[in-house]
Amino acid sequence: AGTGTFFVGGNWKCNGTTESISKLVSDLNSANLEADVDVVVAPPFLYIDQVKNTLTDRIEISAQNSWVGKGGAFTGEISVEQLKDIGCKWVILGHSERRHIIGEKDEFIGKKAAYALSNGLGVIACIGELLQEREAGKTFDVCFEQLKAFADAVPSWDDVVIAYEPVWAIGTGKVATPAQAQEVHVTVRDWLKKNVSSEVASKTRIIYGGSVNGSNCAELAKQDDIDGFLVGGASLKGPEFATIVNSVL
Ligand code: PEP
Repeated sequence: AGTGTFFVGGNWKCNGTTESISKLVSDLNSANLEADVDVVVAPPFLYIDQVKNTLTDRIEISAQNSWVGKGGAFTGEISVEQLKDIGCKWVILGHSERRHIIGEKDEFIGKKAAYALSNGLGVIACIGELLQEREAGKTFDVCFEQLKAFADAVPSWDDVVIAYEPVWAIGTGKVATPAQAQEVHVTVRDWLKKNVSSEVASKTRIIYGGSVNGSNCAELAKQDDIDGFLVGGASLKGPEFATIVNSVL
């Protein structure tokens, strides 16, 4: 950790029921969360209203996706305007599951980010390489290409948090080592310095995601350029998520 306020997001993905989410919310409400950490959770769309109405205001709410432009005749989509209306502050964009399972492309993701930012949502902008890309020595190339798509589109970096999530580490239990994550984070920061500005490089938080849990978070949080976490599986357990939130200390 070293840049800005430590940021921890919980990505609940397509998990939960009214009942399990009510339990998770009550665990989060009673958890002891360190004051100096930004904490955000991303429930499935269907449960955002339930969470908004029951979760402590201490924790902000993110969507897991948003439509690329103004709402209207787009069956099955959810607009940025609707997310704002229901109380969301953030949206996760470019998550690897949307890139690689659903097929979203860089340019489309960049447009989504631009639209969300222009309409007042913060963006958790995800990037990260596949295992075969890492093994082929292409980690930086892939991350830079994904970053460039965001950089080419966004009106400002003020409300952007970058999440580096190596795809081989997501949901696999194979966490990147602190050194592996730090190496990419510092290189991403250097890319921002060269391609955006030194101000954006020095103030944009770069968080790590990929099998973060209550046991590995503290070592990762010690790295200079790891400014928080995006947590999948472990964010479904209130006490463990609280441990990760508090890992910066
Ligand atoms: C994620 O999908 O953002 C993620 C980091 O998942 P997990 O923590 O389960 O690897």
